Parts: sequence; C-alpha cells; structure tokens
Amino acid sequence: MNLKISALEYVQEVKNGNISAEDFVASTIDQIKKIDDKVHAFLSVNDDAVQQAQNIDKKIKSGENVGDCFGMPISIKDNLCIKGSKTTCASKMLENFVAPYDATVITKLKQQDAIFIGKVNMDEFAMGLTTEFSAFGPSKNPWNIDYVPGGSSGGSAVSVSAFECMASIGSDTGGSVRNPASFCSTVGYKPTYGLISRFGLISYANSIEQIGPLTRTVKDTAFLLNLISGIDPNDNTTIDNQNEDYLSDIDSGIEGKKIGIIKEMIGEGIDPAVLNATKEAISKLEKLGAICEEVSLDMVKYSVAAYYTITATEAGSNLARYDNLRYGYDFPVEGYEFNSYISKARRKFGPEVTRRMILGGFVPSAGHAGKYFLKALKVKNKLTKEVNEAFKKFDLLISPTVPVLPFKIGEKIDDPISLFLVDINTVTANLTGKPAISIPFAHSNGLPIGIQLFADSNHDKLLLQAAYALEQTVTLPEVPI
Ligand code: GLN
Repeated sequence: MNLKISALEYVQEVKNGNISAEDFVASTIDQIKKIDDKVHAFLSVNDDAVQQAQNIDKKIKSGENVGDCFGMPISIKDNLCIKGSKTTCASKMLENFVAPYDATVITKLKQQDAIFIGKVNMDEFAMGLTTEFSAFGPSKNPWNIDYVPGGSSGGSAVSVSAFECMASIGSDTGGSVRNPASFCSTVGYKPTYGLISRFGLISYANSIEQIGPLTRTVKDTAFLLNLISGIDPNDNTTIDNQNEDYLSDIDSGIEGKKIGIIKEMIGEGIDPAVLNATKEAISKLEKLGAICEEVSLDMVKYSVAAYYTITATEAGSNLARYDNLRYGYDFPVEGYEFNSYISKARRKFGPEVTRRMILGGFVPSAGHAGKYFLKALKVKNKLTKEVNEAFKKFDLLISPTVPVLPFKIGEKIDDPISLFLVDINTVTANLTGKPAISIPFAHSNGLPIGIQLFADSNHDKLLLQAAYALEQTVTLPEVPI
C-alpha cells in the first residue's frame, strides 16, 4: 500500500475502487507500529480505526452517501476534544481526562467520514516549539531523529511527514502549526482568526489562537479548510465565510500580485541557508509574475515580547481551572488547607507551563499591568495597523517560517529566551489575526526549511493560490524513514 499519496489522491483512489479504506487504514496502523517507537508522534492510537474503515467500505459498496473524507486517517493534536477519548494536552494534569463532547472540527470531520487514527503529541498545553515540553517525552524529527520536530503541534507534523496519517489537525497560537510544518517539511496553515471554530479546543491564549491543518500538499489544506471552516454558534468569534470554496481556482497563479518581503524577518540571527532559501523563493515568485519588494514592519522587533506577555496573561486565566478539584483530581483534600492543596496540585504542571503561570500572574497584576500587559496590547495594535497599511500596498507578504534550521533535542531546552526568539516570524500572524501558511521549500544538511506567506484577513483563498503556485516550483527529497 502506498501511504505517500495525498488526501485528494486517496479520495480518488477509494472512489475508483483501487484501494479500500480498510486496507489503507490497516496499513497506516502498521506504519505507526513500525515507526512510532522511533519518532513518538502518538500519545494514543484509535483501536477501533480498522473497524470504522470497514464500515465506511460497506457504505461505499451499498451505494450509501459517504462523506468527502472517505475514511482517510487523520491524526488530532491532543488538545482537541473527541468525545469519549483521552485529551491530555500532553500534561500530567489531564493525564486521565476523557472529553465529554466533540470539538466542532471533530464533529465536522466525523460528518465527512474521516477516521481519527490517534491523538498526537505536543508541548504541554501548547506552550513551546519543540515538543520537548510534553510530559510524555519529546517527539523526534523524522528527517533526523536527533533533532526537534518543532512544536507545539510536533506530533501532528511528525505523523504527517512519517506517513502515519494522511493529515493532521493542530492549533497555532504563535506558530504551533507552521513551525513544526517547517521543521518536518509539511504544509501548515494558520487561517484568518475566526475562520475555524475553537469550540472544543482547550484554550491557551484564545484571543489569538486558531486551529489549523497540517498536510502533505497545499491542495489538501484547501480541501480540509473547506470541510472545517465556517460560522459556529458555539464560538462567537467565528466568521461567516459564506461556504467559500478554497479548492476551486487554486491554480489561478500569482501573475501581477504584489508581494512584500518583510525586512525584519530576514535580518539579524537568520541562518544563511534559510536566507538563501528565502531569496530563491522570492526569485521563483518573480518568475511566476509576482512583483516583490521589501517592506519594513517596525513593530516586529517588539512582537515576541508582546506575544509572550499577552499569551502568559491569557494562559494564567485559562489554566486557573486546573486545581485538582475541577480537573485532574487524583488526591483527596483531607489534611490540607486550601493554599497548600492548590499549590501541591499545581505542581503537576511541567517547567514551561509553570514559567508561564508565574509570568501570567505577574504581568497583568495591579501596579505592573501598565508597564507590561497594557504596553503589550499597544504593540499588538500598532503592529496590526502597520500590517494593515502594508496590505494596502501588497497582496501578500513573505518571510522564512522560522529563521533557523531544526536544532538538536536538548540544545535550547534550558534557554527559554533563545527558544522564544525562534517564534519571531510566526507570532505576527497571530497578533494581527491574519492568515499565514508554511510550505516545504528547501533542505540544508538534510534538514527542512519552510517558507511563509501571509495574506490580509479573509483572503485565505488568495493565500492558498499563492502557496500552491510556489509549491509547484519545488521538488524535495523523500523523508529518510
Ligand atoms: N512557541 C509559542 C509558545 O510557546 C507558540 C505556541 C503555539 O503556537 N501554541 O507560546
């Protein structure tokens, strides 16, 4: 069984009767069994997957209506609720938490006959960018297992890149879909804020985060976006996209489109190989008829500081509920007074979440809020104004997704500031609510490099067209796994 086909090819093959959902899903499970000990993408695997695939094959045979996914195996980041399944956020705090309802994206994918092949690894509560902060051990980069796969949706990117699923659903608060996509050579998409319902996503920093797909091709991302986007009464930040079809006209090209090269994202600290790849991407886009020009976004230099201030504050409030009473109950209250009970319970958080909780308690506190939190909000507003100005002149913006190559597991784990800086190119899309995509573009010493394109809010369709055009110019090596 060829597990390397794209989601759209899979649909075609199943429709034509060339493969069955059961065979494909069974082979995918075999691949997980064969490979996951090495790369550790999965936290749990769905025991029922093959049975579910059999049922879909039966539906196909008997001529019943079948959903657009035709049983394709999709992995799900472990901060998205699937009713009756464990949803741990890769945290000891939620180690035994079983979700009582389905996230909206899950409901939508179920209606389309997707099969959830398993829940995948992540940094604890989505805080991090290497998957090393998972309480259940790091995932490893299939391109070189000594290296981090990126994060926080590291398990998602690994599972797509190592053919352990057809596509994955992750979440992106400051780059968590795009960063691992870049490090593992997959496509990663952060839609316009509000395009996909966050109902059933365990919140980290809800004012800026979005759910997004990780796939092998840009077309597969457009296909999934068609299925999972749209207004949802359970999430009042969702926008009505009028059932936009992201797949139609994806091959429209980018002739005459103006693309701004973000100066602050190709400057200091960039790896020379990443810079070269970016230059090559720009020249390819020009050959396709785009007009590329540098643009300066002055506020980008403050974006990481603002991002961590805002997200720590929101996380501090969102994670206040994990007190071993409402969630994570595993020792009785007898013998404790209130504060000692809560502080013992909260020690179940790992080092990164603890760091954010301390920061998130401090920066918005009385006497400090003006200096930190409110200032960070000002940076966010100014950055948004700057980016809006840029989109008056440009249709799209471009940068490398991550300024550096994947690094070794353990290399930066004790240096939070240098880790935070790796987010410099991704947080802008979150702080401004704009859509952004990472596409696999190049390799250096066997390690992947992704290119990031941004569009203005609600121009997701244009963004996918541009990404598709660039993707067509690239041929990449096969993952050595
Ligand atoms: N690295 C960023 C953080 O730790 C982004 C994480 C994310 O997008 N969930 O907050």
